Amino acid sequence: MPRKTIAHIDTSALRHNYRLACRLASPARAMAVIKADGYGHGIREVARALADEAPKFAVACIEEALAIREAGFEHPVVLLQGMHSKEDVATCARKGFEAVVHSDYQLDWLEQASEVPALWLKVNTGMNRLGFAPAVLNEVMGRLENHALAQKMVGFVTHFACADDATSGFTDQQTRLFAESVVAWPLLAKSAGNSAAHFLPAQPLFDWSRPGIMLYGASPMLEKTGPELGLKPVMTLEAPLTAVRTLKAGESVGYGCSWLAERETRMGIVAIGYGDGYPRHAGTDTPAWVAGNRIRLIGRVSMDMLAVDLTNAPEARPGDPVELWGQHVSVDEVARHAGTIAYELLTGITVRVPRLYLENGLTG
Ligand SMILES: *Cc1c(COP(=O)(O)O)cnc(C)c1O
Repeated sequence: MPRKTIAHIDTSALRHNYRLACRLASPARAMAVIKADGYGHGIREVARALADEAPKFAVACIEEALAIREAGFEHPVVLLQGMHSKEDVATCARKGFEAVVHSDYQLDWLEQASEVPALWLKVNTGMNRLGFAPAVLNEVMGRLENHALAQKMVGFVTHFACADDATSGFTDQQTRLFAESVVAWPLLAKSAGNSAAHFLPAQPLFDWSRPGIMLYGASPMLEKTGPELGLKPVMTLEAPLTAVRTLKAGESVGYGCSWLAERETRMGIVAIGYGDGYPRHAGTDTPAWVAGNRIRLIGRVSMDMLAVDLTNAPEARPGDPVELWGQHVSVDEVARHAGTIAYELLTGITVRVPRLYLENGLTG
């Protein structure tokens, strides 16, 4: 029998979160961002769960877009980084992918191509990773018109750098710059707004927003958890207690003897570690949950195991499932303890952990 280290995926929670994104985005529509294997949840199953509701999907790269087609879905798929090679131009055109164009070399490929996909132009409003400066948009649009590519244009996209911080003025600045820089093309669509932008009061999201992390129930905002924002956790990461013992005062557990029992402590070993994607940086006091009680990690996370203090869960027994994050412990809390963000934890769950899909949530 396989060990019971499992990522349960609640597809109805995914739909709940997508509907919340739609309500917050309205009148803009929301393209569901399902890159990085659906933020670690499985791109095919995430596409399936949202297929009836999401009018468009968005992914980072062409392999992900092809996976959506192979799973049988014909939705428009936006390639957020566009073409990585000249050959990608024809693939995008044939498969109905919408390519984000951010650099001159991609314009060169498009000008030489016989089949051209639908296009979005990326405008750099301050993130400074990808995109054309507002000052060159006229020239870029001129190039597209000269090569009869302008009719392939769907619209313009930009990306916010600081929308997770409600006190930052930078999102306003980017929003204004974006609106001003594309004002000459009122008939083309505009897309701005990652998950965080949905939670900023009075934030324009233009025609299309692009929610990602919020679909999976994790928080895009600093200092807030997903449930505090009305989101439902989609992944519940669970592993069994495989051993229970009592440490005497002064004894330690795990590599480096980094944690010492101050008093007699009943503790358990859980069959999950960084080889499964559980973060090694999650130290003593990181929360977990077992048998109806919140517990805490103690000592160092190893590759295949970690240790928990069972003082708060005296009835916990070997074989009991321990929740590492999900229904009772927010992945955002674990991320905070590990010095990272939920995005990294969710996308980091390794192939060793089977994903188990539940249509109507977890029972019990
Ligand atoms: C990943 C991504 C998103 C989604 O961001 P979240 O913070 O996960 O909502 C939106 N737009 C672009 C361009 C992205 O790369």
